[in-house]
Amino acid sequence: MKADVVIIGGGIVGSSVAYFLLKEAPGLPVHVVEPDPTYEFASAVRASGGCRVQFTCDENIEMSKFGIAFIRDFDRTMATQASAAHADWVEGGYLFIVPPAQLAGLERSVRKQRAHGCVVELLTPAELKAKFPSMNVSDLGGGAYTPHDGWCDPHGLLWGFRRKAVELGAVYVEDRVEAAEADATKVRSVVLASGQRIEADAFVNACGAWAGAVAAKFGMQLPVAPMRRFEHYFTAGAPVEALPYVKDAARLAFRSEGKGFSGGLVDGAEPRGFNFDVDHGYFERVVWPAVAERFPAFEAAKCHRTWSGLYEQNELDGNPVIGPWTNGLPNLHTVAGFSGHGMMHAPAAGRGIAELIVHGQYRTLDLARLGYERIVAGKPYAEEGIL
Ligand SMILES: Cc1cc2nc3c(=O)[nH]c(=O)nc-3n(C[C@H](O)[C@H](O)[C@H](O)COP(=O)(O)OP(=O)(O)OC[C@H]3O[C@@H](n4cnc5c(N)ncnc54)[C@H](O)[C@@H]3O)c2cc1C
Repeated sequence: MKADVVIIGGGIVGSSVAYFLLKEAPGLPVHVVEPDPTYEFASAVRASGGCRVQFTCDENIEMSKFGIAFIRDFDRTMATQASAAHADWVEGGYLFIVPPAQLAGLERSVRKQRAHGCVVELLTPAELKAKFPSMNVSDLGGGAYTPHDGWCDPHGLLWGFRRKAVELGAVYVEDRVEAAEADATKVRSVVLASGQRIEADAFVNACGAWAGAVAAKFGMQLPVAPMRRFEHYFTAGAPVEALPYVKDAARLAFRSEGKGFSGGLVDGAEPRGFNFDVDHGYFERVVWPAVAERFPAFEAAKCHRTWSGLYEQNELDGNPVIGPWTNGLPNLHTVAGFSGHGMMHAPAAGRGIAELIVHGQYRTLDLARLGYERIVAGKPYAEEGIL
């Protein structure tokens, strides 16, 4: 079988790449290899859906701006002849809160985001209390509120991208990439679990938490590792005003969902591996003390459900790797390692890879600083704010 581009992994990122390739180059033969059409373990369908401009790296801020605008308009642009698209966008806002020692850093981040044209309100503890009366602000230095951020339904986003890509001509192959064949300068083909072989001019590794393992099949070292993270659905024990997506410096993060809340507390020290076991004591042990201290109304909070998913953690700097394998086989592109931000950045990253493949250069947003070169050089390019 022959294609022009083979995308490995048909999750939200791979499907975004497929969509943007076919927007840039209508009629381009694009194959997406995805073993699981139910996406049982894919990170996208286990994600919490948050989209925010509160980053410090220019690329992340700009990718979020594009992603949020794209998602806001998603239902209209991504509807196909056969199906409606549903991103279920909620402009609920984001609120980052920090202790006094981190206030200067937060102020720096806010200045950067404003320089990118983002609307960000810097709030004193008293202003926080006035806006969110149920919050305990006694130990806080301040907060940054971005009213045009929000959240969406990751499942709807993934399927919207996939259905639209298929309508534009992408072929999804239900199989798994097991091996690659290359000569001295180029990847020639991938070999699938079924034994089938697909030749192409360009290949894209969009395998999320599996991206490191898939890169190794090409002989490429990619420091992207699977890191388990729990997400919980819980209700408060007493009435609480409408809250934005709240994040603190200890990585507590939650937002409203239906009559309750969805969120968790990321443990960056979680051992790496493909582990989907659920620790049903995690909420009570780790999340509840943090949320109840910040919002006493959650003193009697009840956790209704806990699930696990994988972050695709870039061990060098927590930012994605986007671009060609420059010092190896440059027709293999990587778009992985988003370290928990890949849903909101899927539209911009997909567009970027499509531009590189079709035009040989970035045409909209320059993502060169997120390229593989920094991995080879061992030079991290990390976020400075809250992760
Ligand atoms: C609990 C949780 C909460 C999150 N919250 C947010 C959030 O609020 N906002 C946000 O932006 N992001 C969030 N994320 C991160 C986000 O889910 C990921 O960054 C994003 O889904 C990555 O998309 P992906 O397509 O790269 O990976 P996936 O969605 O995991 O897709 C990768 C695909 O590759 C396929 N694959 C694997 N191996 C092979 C192979 N050998 N051959 C072919 N295909 C293969 C898999 O079957 C899978 O479908 C969260 C993640 C978790 C776990």
